[in-house]
Amino acid sequence: MAPTPRAIVYSSPFLPPEWIAAHGWTPSRRRPGPASEFEAEGVCRFAAGFAVLAGPDIRARVFATTCDPMRRGAEIGTDDPIPRFLFHMPATWQTPEAHGLYREELKRLGRFLERLGGCAPTPAGLMEQMERFEAARETLLARREILSSRAHAEEMDRFHATGEVPSGAPAVPRPKSAIPLMLLGSPLRADDLHLLDLLDRAGGWVAADATEFGEREWPRRFDRRRMGEDAFDELADAYFGHMPAIFRRPNGRFFEWLADARNRTPVRGIVFAAHPWCDLWRAELPRIREVSALPVLSLHLAGEGNAEGAWTTRIQAFLEMLA
Ligand code: SF4
Repeated sequence: MAPTPRAIVYSSPFLPPEWIAAHGWTPSRRRPGPASEFEAEGVCRFAAGFAVLAGPDIRARVFATTCDPMRRGAEIGTDDPIPRFLFHMPATWQTPEAHGLYREELKRLGRFLERLGGCAPTPAGLMEQMERFEAARETLLARREILSSRAHAEEMDRFHATGEVPSGAPAVPRPKSAIPLMLLGSPLRADDLHLLDLLDRAGGWVAADATEFGEREWPRRFDRRRMGEDAFDELADAYFGHMPAIFRRPNGRFFEWLADARNRTPVRGIVFAAHPWCDLWRAELPRIREVSALPVLSLHLAGEGNAEGAWTTRIQAFLEMLA
């Protein structure tokens, strides 16, 4: 009989899947599905959906306090029988105390995973997971070049949800003439992914996914020497010490990343999408326009239906302008 899957779902890319896997669990980031009853005022659709993600394999939910709606999400649906863990994520990052708190929270998460039935990680086991996830990220990054926006997002989703690494010929290759774009903003829910179909159909291609499910919020490459000395310390630094994110204070590193992104990936425009109630992203739109110095198409992720007709027209007009 196949072993029962043991998945821990987690809300933020700042929670290293390597750490969860080293405790014997399957780390799983998933896009929430259709509307949840908790999409009340002040809770964005992504956070509300994460709070009620369902699946027979889910053994615990890990929320990170990266924004008020996600913090609120941890409080709703508390008759949920699935154990919850609230990870206190420091917004600041420029002091040793903030780095120390992040490390302590990782250790506290580790104790929670052990209490649930996981194993205590060994340095060798953690290093093995770090090597595995880093190799997978590099494979996925290379495959972006050959896949349509939608096909690549689906491969990324399988990796985030199960750790599966894609291989073989692309099912849906990208047309060579497609216009390279950056996708930026709130993480898309499963229902929002048709945005990528619209971009592909209109002659665009997401050359850089700068949402939470894309490569912007990946750790820096692991340093093998430091990893050999102290794998946990290297893991924490590669994530908390280096990842740009909109929730960090100050969030200058995000804008440095954005300014550099133009040199690394020659995108011709930015498609910006944000959920209702996501003040973190909406507040930064003017500065995103200024720093990127690129044309920006701003779309509202309004949920069911998502005004598909209006999106289609605006996306087509945007890509015609960039052509
Ligand atoms: S989309 Fe915005 S409000 Fe929603 S969870 Fe992400 S950062 Fe928080």
